[in-house]
Amino acid sequence: MFLMGAVKKPHSFFTYLSLSYLAVYAVCALLLYLITAHVISESARAFDRDDIRSDSLEYAEILRGNASGSWLAEEVALEHLPASTIFAIRLLGTDGNVVYSASQPTNFAFPGGWNSRKAPASNLVPKDNWREIYLPEYKRHLQLRSTRLPDGRVLQVAKSTARENTQEGILLRTSLAFFLLACLFTLGNGLWMMAITLRPIKRVTADMSRIIETGTCEAGDFPVSSRISELNTLGRYFDLMVQKNATLIKAMKDTLDNVAHDFRTPLARIRSAAEFALNAREPPLSHDALLGMLAGIIEDCDNAKLQLQNLMDIRAMESGFLNLDRQRFDLVKTVAEIADLYAVLAEDKNIALNIDVPEGQLSVDGDPLRLSQALANLIDNAVKYTPRDGNIQITLERAHGEALLTIGDTGIGIPEEDHALIGQRLFRSRNARSEKGLGLGMSIVKAIVDAHGGSLTFTSAPGSGSRFFVRLPSC
Ligand code: ADP
Repeated sequence: MFLMGAVKKPHSFFTYLSLSYLAVYAVCALLLYLITAHVISESARAFDRDDIRSDSLEYAEILRGNASGSWLAEEVALEHLPASTIFAIRLLGTDGNVVYSASQPTNFAFPGGWNSRKAPASNLVPKDNWREIYLPEYKRHLQLRSTRLPDGRVLQVAKSTARENTQEGILLRTSLAFFLLACLFTLGNGLWMMAITLRPIKRVTADMSRIIETGTCEAGDFPVSSRISELNTLGRYFDLMVQKNATLIKAMKDTLDNVAHDFRTPLARIRSAAEFALNAREPPLSHDALLGMLAGIIEDCDNAKLQLQNLMDIRAMESGFLNLDRQRFDLVKTVAEIADLYAVLAEDKNIALNIDVPEGQLSVDGDPLRLSQALANLIDNAVKYTPRDGNIQITLERAHGEALLTIGDTGIGIPEEDHALIGQRLFRSRNARSEKGLGLGMSIVKAIVDAHGGSLTFTSAPGSGSRFFVRLPSC
């Protein structure tokens, strides 16, 4: 059952990038705003308290010699205060009665019964005391200082300047402007990031969809270039992969053609031999002629079987399964036998095939059939790619505890740029394509030598021939 509701519509990279930046900016801006607002209001309130402290000291000094408190009315100059300042002062007698009070605004309702004639007992503080009272109707904080004078009277001074609100307003406006700028910057940054990151990705995506739609495996015309190194690498590897796939597909097509050709010829020969034998009644074919034809058919079948075996071997090697029937055997004898098999072929092209093997035995621990197959492939190539009247030299020797087999020829050689590709499945050099072949032999040789713990190397140059070196651990 499909859960349709669970499938979410994907959004573009730009949306995610911009939204995540915005979220980060918003959280940071809010935190910064809260911290700054706190610092501002704390410092504004501290200013108010400083004012109150100096006012209280001044008024207390005046009241020291004025028992009735009448001088206070002369000293308190409310008209000099800015209109935005809330200010209140009162003097409580020793009995708790309000002796003097004044405020700006005049009708100011002080929380906690400021206007009552008799102050509540809670306000009659015995010592120097601070209170902070929030005034909801003014949306401000009021600082109140109660000072007990030496004669027992209590002086209360309260003040709240507009400093806190003004500064908070400035902060709010600045923060909003900053946030708007940050949003614009985020959008700009998102667009820029999108341009530099998405361009190569779009190029790769376009290539992919073209490959899927047309089935032609080719990279785009221009290389992926981005200021982001990871995307450059991605583009480079994508192009390489596409090129490799294109080479592989072409090689597979060539291989199919070759396989078809390689099978069509022996099949046609088998069919015409059988047809000829069936139709040849007058005069009837001799027993020897029939045997010769059957031998030809068997040989063609063997060749076709060998080609199939090569293909299957490659499959097995690619899956990492190459079964070796290991045993100790004499490589000198094997080399001589295989070289002997190719003597006739070499002779047909007037190629001198020389063998140089050590005296006695050179034992190795391996699969004689597989190693013979590898050796046969190497000598077969040497004969195939050496023009008439050339030279092939096969040498087997002991070298540093190893068996070193060298197959040198004076053939067409391998172009320098192809050296790294020799041994790759289906690879054939351009200069070798006039000869029949599937491009499988060298990969089989390499896999067999590798499976025996040995190594395959070569030196080669076009026109001056090739030398293949097989090193195997000897016993
Ligand atoms: P095939 O011979 O069927 O093409 P191989 O796998 O045996 O396939 O060889 C791969 C390629 O290596 C050949 O197509 C040829 O280009 C190159 N090569 C191998 N051996 C030789 C050689 N002795 N001289 C020149 N080129 C060679």
